[in-house]
Amino acid sequence: MSEHRNVVIIGSGPAGLTAAIYAARADLSPLVIEGEPSSTSDQPGGQLMLTTDVENFPGFPEGVMGPDLMVNFRAQAVRFNTDIITAKVSRLELGGRPFQMWVGATDGEPTYTADAVILATGAQALMLGIEGEQRLLGHGVSACATCDGFFFRDQDICVVGGGDTALEEAQFLSRFARTVTVIHRRDELRASRIMQDRAMANEKIKWLWNSVVDDIVGESKVEGVVVRDTTTGESTTHPFTGVFVAIGHRPNTDLFADQLELQPNGYVQTQGATSLTSVDGVFACGDLQDDRYRQAITAAGSGCMAAIDAERFLEALHDA
Ligand code: NDP
Repeated sequence: MSEHRNVVIIGSGPAGLTAAIYAARADLSPLVIEGEPSSTSDQPGGQLMLTTDVENFPGFPEGVMGPDLMVNFRAQAVRFNTDIITAKVSRLELGGRPFQMWVGATDGEPTYTADAVILATGAQALMLGIEGEQRLLGHGVSACATCDGFFFRDQDICVVGGGDTALEEAQFLSRFARTVTVIHRRDELRASRIMQDRAMANEKIKWLWNSVVDDIVGESKVEGVVVRDTTTGESTTHPFTGVFVAIGHRPNTDLFADQLELQPNGYVQTQGATSLTSVDGVFACGDLQDDRYRQAITAAGSGCMAAIDAERFLEALHDA
């Protein structure tokens, strides 16, 4: 037998758990399907679980560790009677109401049905996939200059990538770092001309062309980066103490990509300044629908919006 809920929230980063806090306080008894600790893409707590110090989340003047912040988000949601299950949605059907969700086996009766669904499955920064990268994530390796740039004052650091994000991050990081070296796998940037011109004019930004990162070295923090020149095959260890990976992001839309409208870049399309998607009763919040700001605080804000939108939708549904 399926269990029916007013609202199911899929995802448990700042967006999903803020939606839960608001939905629970509106007496909607939300269920959060938080993901499983098995992979980085849908790990409960989202991307903050992979960071260390968070100094830009308001309310924590001394800063807070990313995982501790998410423990607090979760505890606050539970305090107001949010049910949370540690599982992955294996199948989601948004074709008609009630919406249907399966956890585990994808045939037979759905595990849950719901009148409203809030999608908060986030996005993931694409990473290089080399050994030192995961081990030192949050200890000198980062995928967010806005979040972590401040920690690299007067250091020699690098950015990997050749797109607009890489150059924007390099530009931002040059405010703090002594030098920022952009490591790009080709001899031509993908970034727009204006970003290229700006970066080229910045004396703190250096360049390593036709270069790939083979390893990031250091025991407990980044102490060097092994870079291979793809034209000569020669490897050099550079003494960089920070590595910003800026090779793109991917929204976690696999579950529902073919069931609602997406933006051309694959992010979920929401309507205007709301969390409404192209399917009535389905709301999206957080990085899943935001390729622009990608911050914990903006994700949390959009989670609040999604809960309020869902509440209004359910009220209208029940009135009807
Ligand atoms: P992009 O996909 O545009 O660029 C990714 C870059 O990373 C490319 O240079 C690519 O190299 C490189 N790359 C990809 N995979 C690897 C890998 N495994 N190893 C090494 N390098 C790799 O992503 P962005 O995040 O930069 O931008 C996404 C979108 O957002 C773009 O449309 C961009 O224009 C936009 N944007 C706009 C901004 C602005 O206008 N201010 C700011 C930031 C983003 P290669 O070039 O060889 O493929």
